Amino acid sequence: MTTTRTNSVSRPGSLPERSPEEIWAGLMAGNKRFQDGNPAPREYVHRRAGLANGQRPRVIVLTCSDSRVSPSLVFDQNLGDLFVIRTAGNVADPVALGSIEYAAEFLDARVLVIMGHEKCGAVAAAVSGETPPSPNLEAIVDKVRPALASVKGRAGGEELLRLAEQANVHQSASDLLRNSPLLQQRVKAGRLTLIKALYQLTTGQVIHLPD
Ligand SMILES: [Zn+2]
Repeated sequence: MTTTRTNSVSRPGSLPERSPEEIWAGLMAGNKRFQDGNPAPREYVHRRAGLANGQRPRVIVLTCSDSRVSPSLVFDQNLGDLFVIRTAGNVADPVALGSIEYAAEFLDARVLVIMGHEKCGAVAAAVSGETPPSPNLEAIVDKVRPALASVKGRAGGEELLRLAEQANVHQSASDLLRNSPLLQQRVKAGRLTLIKALYQLTTGQVIHLPD
């Protein structure tokens, strides 16, 4: 990764910039293909060569490291399409945040998808109330805990977990805006659109979470 702006590919005279709505619709169409088990045919060799000198992803995805939640597969996208940050529980620590800022500021990515998922181990660990066995694991759970405060007492068992998973996505979104004036400014200027989503393990569907 370089922090020079020349790394991004400007395409003068190419297709007009897609709106955030159009970009999201493209992701949803890809997700539908994924759900149906009908991915678009991929050509990697020319694509790879074409991207070797620069990238211009329109989408940043912050999601969980969970092996069942693979953004390029879930949205049926190709090389160069998604700038992906994955941490357990999709928590945004300074390094994750810096990675998001890089894609927004230097690659001019326009849509940031924050995607939690069903049966997230990090959320379940926070819900369990148990003390994690290492300070590093504790750092993850510690980021998820505030999300629980808003849903505690509203349900129990599986339903509490479901509510906590949604609350954790909202938590990640508000954390990253609070901790990044750069992202805040880009959202305010209309150069970055945040989309909150939840991935369903069984159906493969990505649900858009309302604010
Ligand atoms: Zn997870």
